[in-house]
Amino acid sequence: MKASGSPPSLQAGFIGLGAMGEWMARHLANRGFLTTVWNRTAQKSADLARELNLIQSASPSALAERVDVICLCVSADSDVLDLVQAIRPTLRPGQIVIDFSTVSRETALAAARLIRASGADFLDTPVTGGVEGARHATLAIMAGGEAATLERIQPLLEAVGSRLIHMGGVGMGQSAKAVNQVLCAGINQAVTEALAFGEHLGLDMDKLIEGISGGAAGNWFLDKRGATMTQGLFKPGFKLRLHHKDLGICQSMARQLNIELPLTDTTEQHYRALMAAGHGDEDISSLYRLKRPAA
Ligand code: NAP
Repeated sequence: MKASGSPPSLQAGFIGLGAMGEWMARHLANRGFLTTVWNRTAQKSADLARELNLIQSASPSALAERVDVICLCVSADSDVLDLVQAIRPTLRPGQIVIDFSTVSRETALAAARLIRASGADFLDTPVTGGVEGARHATLAIMAGGEAATLERIQPLLEAVGSRLIHMGGVGMGQSAKAVNQVLCAGINQAVTEALAFGEHLGLDMDKLIEGISGGAAGNWFLDKRGATMTQGLFKPGFKLRLHHKDLGICQSMARQLNIELPLTDTTEQHYRALMAAGHGDEDISSLYRLKRPAA
């Protein structure tokens, strides 16, 4: 993404200061875009507002009244739609709502319909790159919506990401993100299965990871999560229950297309078992629990 060099002319508000949102909000504040925050758990927005000298809004609609760009980064489809309903009465022409959450294409289309009826515009801008990408502002952003709207907020997106791809109309960002999530499922399966195989073979796991990460099988997940998973550490990162939610979206899309996603189905079942055993808030690398040798 090339730097635009233009001074911040848009004022933004951020809703959803979770593992991803807090970092994104920090980068927007550092670049002078962010003025206002709201979070369901008010302590988080109070702390960040105090630290960064921002306004802590009393409600999502109070935030929407103050800013040009309303950024969302919340957990699931219903959260996005509830927030859109909450801010809708205060929206005005010229405002832009952008949603960094991972949700279905249908949710993006429904959000856009509601928001455009108020004269404002909507872009689905799901991200990939993990918490590390959020922390270092190196996220890849796959955007769906009007090109002119995307152009207006490009400087703001450059504050949180290093790659911005316009995928097409509203919902196409989420479609691209769904493809990404299927790929993440496969990579998780491959890395956890392979490393557990290595452990069964009695290999030194640190040496193994160092060796294979330099070759054709090297990948981001192996680099970032290989050592921790083999030590039994599963701090998120990307919460397993969130990826499980995403795989449900992918399965539903596949059903509509009448195609099969066997790797996604298997991973969804594995995650369901791990969630039932109380591991839903761990990192997705907790899949290793199902593969490693018994203690
Ligand atoms: P997280 O740490 O669990 O944070 C979720 C955020 O959403 C919190 O601020 C939470 O508020 C808020 N929230 C949840 N339900 C809400 C509701 N009904 N109304 C208002 N706010 C609500 O999740 P995350 O990892 O930041 O992920 C956020 C989104 O980004 C998800 O859609 C996820 O799939 C996607 N994503 C995550 C990653 C990753 O690696 N973590 C990468 C790419 C995309 P509270 O503080 O009150 O709980």
